[in-house]
Amino acid sequence: MVERIQLLAGRLAGAATAASPLSLPGAVPVPEPQQPLLPRKVPGADFDVLRIRSQFPVLNRRLPSGGFPVYLDSGASAQKPRVVIDAQRDVEEQYFANAHRGTYQFGLRIDEAFEGARADVARFIHAPSADSIVFTPGTTIGLNMIAAGWAVPRLRPGDEILTTVMEHHANFVPWQQAAARTGAVLKFLPLTSDGRLDPSQFDTAFTARTRVVAVTAMSNMLGSINPIRELTRRAHAVGACMVVDGAQSVPHLPTDVTADNIDFLVFSGHKVYGPTGVGVLYGRPERLEEMQPVHFGGHMIAQVGLEKSTWSAPPARFEAGTMPIVQVIGLGAAIRWMEATGLDDIHAWEMHLTGMLYERLSQIDGIRIFGPKPEFRGGIISFRIDGVHPEDLATILDHHDVFTRHGHHCTMPLHTSLNVSASTRVSFGAYNTADDVEAFMRALQKAVERLRG
Ligand code: PMP
Repeated sequence: MVERIQLLAGRLAGAATAASPLSLPGAVPVPEPQQPLLPRKVPGADFDVLRIRSQFPVLNRRLPSGGFPVYLDSGASAQKPRVVIDAQRDVEEQYFANAHRGTYQFGLRIDEAFEGARADVARFIHAPSADSIVFTPGTTIGLNMIAAGWAVPRLRPGDEILTTVMEHHANFVPWQQAAARTGAVLKFLPLTSDGRLDPSQFDTAFTARTRVVAVTAMSNMLGSINPIRELTRRAHAVGACMVVDGAQSVPHLPTDVTADNIDFLVFSGHKVYGPTGVGVLYGRPERLEEMQPVHFGGHMIAQVGLEKSTWSAPPARFEAGTMPIVQVIGLGAAIRWMEATGLDDIHAWEMHLTGMLYERLSQIDGIRIFGPKPEFRGGIISFRIDGVHPEDLATILDHHDVFTRHGHHCTMPLHTSLNVSASTRVSFGAYNTADDVEAFMRALQKAVERLRG
């Protein structure tokens, strides 16, 4: 296995130039030599992908064709392992009650499981305490809460919000709205020609007016991994707050909010092998103290009077009303599953598959692979092939039981800057195998032959 990966890495170095680079307006050539942001670790010898895959019931059900799903859309949502499904069913069958309400047996047990999940999340992302973990409905709502509750009350006309053109709409539109409401200005960190943040532009991009830096840790379209620690250092040097969209990075790369020193991190449960309807907003304790709640009602209050009310301390201040209790507990199970499986190994395995796919795709005539070479990306590859529309391609792939995403992937500004309206995206999870890559390539080959006539 080790030799195979080394061989692959060597072949990749040659293949990397085969794909066409991005053509972003104002794009700057990448300085050579490039230093990978992450070491390419070889997956542990005990990473048994078939055993992992066997833990995911939906991947082991037969489709009407008689085959099994080739699921390559984990960037949109990951499948759930049996332990997550069981944890949720267990709550509803064994001890369901509302959380933080009753002191009867079910009430106590549900509180313990609910707060246990908070401790699981804190440990997983290296947060200083469980109190810095706020449960939300997902990444989108978390980012809206930060923009409306922390940024809007602080932003003044002419202040700058620094973001990137590679952001998902969830980390773009709330800042556009915050700017419109306060007179602040949205500014963009320039990208290199291969779709990475251009470090040579950092000195000019960060200014004395920068108040918020809102950047994704990993692009959901380009796959690029961004240098969060360096960006945070620069944000803090000019007195700005660092907001990280971890929706794509947290499922795939180890996260350490303390070492990275970031102010806010958000991610979604459904992308980390957990349920939908739940997400996480991490806030450095002093930032959570400063943040205003945007949802008001039960549980988040300290005192309610006829004239005015006061708020409880974080995280309760930001958890108004009944929370998605079952999903929070399911998320805790998902976190423990990732810890037991080993995030380093998951990442290394996904990078192995990514390298493999990148090399195979690079050999296709007329292909344009978006984003950097594998060393600088996570397990996502988006591409366009001349004469092949992504929507037609998706339909044919589906006929071969291969499930991929097509469209603008909620990154319209990025697609516009790349001069395409849509692309095809393959994204990996811990359960994907080399056979999935082969099945995808076979289906792709057939689709391209058919669509090109
Ligand atoms: N940010 C990124 C980078 C994403 O990939 C996504 C999901 N595609 C989101 C934000 C939004 O996540 P959610 O829909 O779970 O709120």
